[in-house]
Amino acid sequence: MTIDDAPRDALRGGPRELLRWVATGAAVSRADLSRLSGLSPSTVSQRVEALISQGLLEEAGAGRSRGGRRPRQLAVPTGGAVVGAIDLGAHHARVGTLDLSGRVVKARTLPVRIEDGPEAVLGALLAEVATLVGGAPATGDGAMAAGALRGVGIGIPGPVQHSTGRIVSPSRMPGWNGFDVAAFCAGRVDVPVIVDNDANLMALGAHRTAHSELDHAVYIKAGTGIGSGVIASGRLHRGAQGSAGDISHCRVVADPAPPCTCGNAGCLEAVASGAALVTALREQGVPVSDLTGVIRLIDDGDRQATALARQAGRAVGEILAVVVNFFNPQVVAIGGRLADCEPLLASMRATLYERCLPLATQTLLIERVAVGQDVGITGAAHLVIDHVVAAA
Ligand SMILES: [Zn+2]
Repeated sequence: MTIDDAPRDALRGGPRELLRWVATGAAVSRADLSRLSGLSPSTVSQRVEALISQGLLEEAGAGRSRGGRRPRQLAVPTGGAVVGAIDLGAHHARVGTLDLSGRVVKARTLPVRIEDGPEAVLGALLAEVATLVGGAPATGDGAMAAGALRGVGIGIPGPVQHSTGRIVSPSRMPGWNGFDVAAFCAGRVDVPVIVDNDANLMALGAHRTAHSELDHAVYIKAGTGIGSGVIASGRLHRGAQGSAGDISHCRVVADPAPPCTCGNAGCLEAVASGAALVTALREQGVPVSDLTGVIRLIDDGDRQATALARQAGRAVGEILAVVVNFFNPQVVAIGGRLADCEPLLASMRATLYERCLPLATQTLLIERVAVGQDVGITGAAHLVIDHVVAAA
C-alpha cells in the first residue's frame, strides 16, 4: 500500500505531512511538528528519526534555546537527494530533477517523436534524467547508477494500468500499446520507477502546489489529447484499474459526429482535443499543421478557428457538467495548452453553469491551472516522494 491509498485522516502527522511541514518552513523543529500534528513528542521523534535514517530529513544545526537544551533544527536535504521526473507529451517531454520537498532543481524541455517507439523515447529521456542528476549514463542506452537519485516518476499521455505500469490502448502512440513502462525503466535505473498518466500527474502537481487545502478537485488536461485527473478526499483517485478521470471517449452531442481513434464517433477527444481542432480546420481547408498553429489562429481572432474552439468548450463543459453533478468538487481547473484559449474557456464555463445543479456550482471554483509547465514533473516527483516516504 502506498501512502496515497491511506485515508486522509490517517495522514495527520504521517511521515509525508511531517516532511511537508519541514519542507514548507511551517516547522523547523520536533517541537513544531508535535504542536502542528498534535502527536506526542516521543511519537514525533520516532517518525523524525525514521525520516533522518532514510535521508529524507536532516539536522541543520541548533535552533534558538528557550532556556533548556537548544533544539536541533530540521531541514529537507537539498544538496544530494533528488527525484527524477518525466512528463511525456505528444511532441515534447519535460524532464527534471526535484528535491525531496517537490521543488524543481533542474528542468528542460526536449523534442520527442512518439512514433519512434517506447524503447527509443524512454531510453533517451532516462539518459537525460541521468545527465540532470549529474552522472553520465553508465551505458549508451541510458542506464544509470542510483547515487543521489531516489526514484523516477513518469507521466504518459495515454491510459496506464496502475497496478502494472503498462500502457493500454493509447491514442496517437503507435507501438506503445501494452508496453510495460515500469519494467523497461526498472531495467535501466536502480531506483523505484512510478508510472501514471499525464492528467493524473497534472492533477497531483496542481493540487499539492495550489489547492492542498481542498479535498475534492477535478483537473482537466486539454492539449493534443484531453483527459482529467480526480482528487477525492485529498488523494489522487485512480479507480480500480487506473482509468478514473479518463473522459476522452465520453460521447458528446456533435453533428456530424467525427470519427474517433477508438472506433466510435462523437467522443470528446474527437471534438475537443487539440488534435481534433487541427483535423477539423484542415478539413475546412485551413492549412494548419499543429496545435501551435491552431492557437495562433484563435489568438488572431480567426473566425473558423474561434467557432471550433467555442464548440470544443461546449463539449468539454457538457462532460464536465456530468462530472460536477455526480462528484461535487470544490474546484475544476483546466490546464494544458488549450487552457489559455479564451473562447474555449468561456463556453466551457457557460455550459457548466447551465447544466449543473445550483448546489453543485454555488461555491465551485472554475479556474486555470496556475502552476505552469512544471506541473507534470511536480506531480511525478510527488508520486515518487510519497512512495519513498511510505517505504521509510
Ligand atoms: Zn473515442
